[in-house]
Amino acid sequence: MIYLDNAATTQMYTEAVDAMIPFYTKCYSNPSEIYNFASKSRKAVNDSRKCIAEIINAEPSEIYFTSGGTESDNWAIFGALNLMKDRGRHVITTSIEHHAILNTCRYYERLGCEITYIKPDSNGIINVHDIEKAIRPDTVLISVMMANNEIGTIQPIKDIGKIASKHNILFHTDAVQTFGHLDIDVKDMHIDMLSASAHKCHGPKGVGFLYIKNGIDIPGFHLGGKQERTLRAGTENVAGIAGFGTAANIINQRLEYNTEYITNLRNYFINRVLNEIKYVRLNGDTVNRLCGNASFCFAYLDGEAIQIQLDLYDICCSTGSACNAGIKAVSHVLEAIQVPEEYIHGSVRFTISEFNTIEEIDYTVDKLKDIVAKLRGMSLEYKLHHK
Ligand code: PLP
Repeated sequence: MIYLDNAATTQMYTEAVDAMIPFYTKCYSNPSEIYNFASKSRKAVNDSRKCIAEIINAEPSEIYFTSGGTESDNWAIFGALNLMKDRGRHVITTSIEHHAILNTCRYYERLGCEITYIKPDSNGIINVHDIEKAIRPDTVLISVMMANNEIGTIQPIKDIGKIASKHNILFHTDAVQTFGHLDIDVKDMHIDMLSASAHKCHGPKGVGFLYIKNGIDIPGFHLGGKQERTLRAGTENVAGIAGFGTAANIINQRLEYNTEYITNLRNYFINRVLNEIKYVRLNGDTVNRLCGNASFCFAYLDGEAIQIQLDLYDICCSTGSACNAGIKAVSHVLEAIQVPEEYIHGSVRFTISEFNTIEEIDYTVDKLKDIVAKLRGMSLEYKLHHK
């Protein structure tokens, strides 16, 4: 099997799996208990908190463990709107956010909040001046993802953070695709809240965190017990948090090496595809791009058909368009960057990790070439345009 869908989820580090097991077997105590048996669970949670805080230049008291990126995103918006309700109900975000942000924004729109969705340029980059122009006296939150999950575009987060800070507006960033993959410094980047998820950086599924800068008193999202300094009720996922801390520590140590290794594989992959296949475009920015992301659109083809054909060779990738009950749903991200009509349905995203090899990339491109040729041979649309 060749796994090229690392933006969807990643293979866990074995060290992270090993770090989790004792908390299911021998040290299964609830970390909130005061007896000695609970001290190992408590220590594991605190060690992970400390390690994660250091990676983003935060304080341990600013890290709140959650069930993942979705919960962290939901909480950031809920928290900001509630904390700032006397000042206003206007939020600025972008049209290319993950649905964890977009659907939350739509929910609050139905409750009377106003949301401005900033559009990116054709490379998927958000213009900082567009953000500044959208600011109003009642703006209480700016939420812009650090990098896009479909096309890998990295946003000018530090510049956006500066603007938010200048106007005294809370700034949240969804860093689910970047934690462990990019250098993040919440202080230098003027970030007030940041969402991350363990399973995107070789940790377990179902655990993440929300960084909340000290002094920003957003209310808790889960109501119940007093866990996570009363802000996130519910018994901690001790094993998951231990696995997350271990994975975060490993990936952070490998950051420089991984970035170079994965970028080289990615560039080799992109060059082969663009040189050896006709009528294909690379989506997103060529420079400000996550090192593992290679998102393409193949003209006159259906991305899902390519994905299914690749699956027959045990190659895993993903597509931006899906066919739902016979209706072609186009990715909101590809729509936002205005991918031309003949290309937009043929999107396929390959996302590379440190576990991939050049042999796997070669095999994938070879199969992709055959599949594209075969599908185009059957495509009426392609034949119409290339008589
Ligand atoms: N935000 C982004 C940018 C993502 O890519 C994802 C997952 O794909 C999420 C949020 C949701 O994260 P989780 O799966 O941990 O809930």
